[in-house]
Amino acid sequence: MPQVKDIYKTLFNEVPVAIADFDYSGLSEIQRKLKGVERSEIRQYLYKHTAQIKAIAKKFKVSLVNDTALSLYGVRTTAQFSEALARAYCGKSFDVFVEQLVSLLSGEGEFSGELKCSVARNRQQDIFIRVSVPEKYGTSLAHVLVTLQDITAWKRIERKLRKEAQIDGMTRLYNQSAILDKLDIELIRAKRYGLELSCMMIDLDFFKVINDKFGHQKGDQILKKVADMIKDCFRKVDVVGRYGGDEFVVILPETSARNANFAAQRLQKIFAKTLFRYKNVIKFYITLSIGIAGYSPKKAKDAKDLLALADNAMYDVKKAGRNAIKIAKI
Ligand code: GH3
Ligand code: MG
Repeated sequence: MPQVKDIYKTLFNEVPVAIADFDYSGLSEIQRKLKGVERSEIRQYLYKHTAQIKAIAKKFKVSLVNDTALSLYGVRTTAQFSEALARAYCGKSFDVFVEQLVSLLSGEGEFSGELKCSVARNRQQDIFIRVSVPEKYGTSLAHVLVTLQDITAWKRIERKLRKEAQIDGMTRLYNQSAILDKLDIELIRAKRYGLELSCMMIDLDFFKVINDKFGHQKGDQILKKVADMIKDCFRKVDVVGRYGGDEFVVILPETSARNANFAAQRLQKIFAKTLFRYKNVIKFYITLSIGIAGYSPKKAKDAKDLLALADNAMYDVKKAGRNAIKIAKI
């Protein structure tokens, strides 16, 4: 087994990146078989022989590993370290492992990806893995250098930012771009499985008057309350969003326009019973103009088309005097 010269030992062990030198020569037989084969065929082969691939992963030997790598996995020995990595390769990160092998077996000599690993005390960690093969070992794969970095905290922030980017800051409902994405996904589902799908455009009547009379701050408070009321009125599977200003959208999967109409009536009834107050002196009701569009493959190709149908129906309600529901003709 190679040794790290004393003068480099501290550097090798203390560098804040986990480093290990693996011996992948257990792949030699598969390597011979797949020589000159296209990436897609290599992938196909590996997925056809998962048991064999997993068995090989469990036998990969580690010839050198630094202290950072051991402490990353909360283990003490080289064997425990390679077992921990093999567990990730054979478990949740099998697809990433396959991609790694596809790269190495097609002679690329390097790969990077993200692993999900169970580490010390069964904590889940996100690990960035970079694999490279020094040129002279390109064929034998006797030395494959692996570096691992704990990116759990970054991934947490990334997930949070991604989620926040979909949310309207004031009402905490989905924002316009999230609504468009979600409606597109629902449209694909509806098309593929022949399901019904409706969307609803809801606009508050005379909301400007509330702002003008009671101030923008009170207007904001009311918009938040309205958002909660709309959200509470619909099923958990329905998607509620703020499309902008005083305009809200509800996506109703597996629902006909007729049934969406019943839901819209229920919502209007709730508003008809809800008294809003300003400084406990002025009391008022809010009414809604609602347009509904049911999905039809002839009329709506994408989310924007379907929303435009609901929006036009909603504008017809405005023109006709407000506080009503209209289903778009399709
Ligand atoms: P209509 O019945 O035709 O819908 O009349 P409206 O007064 O509700 O006017 P419209 O829907 O065209 O415009 C929405 C108004 O909502 C414009 C603006 O004054 C107000 N608004 C939009 N966004 C906000 C917001 O974030 N906070 C507050 N307080 N008001 C907003
Ligand atoms: Mg309005």
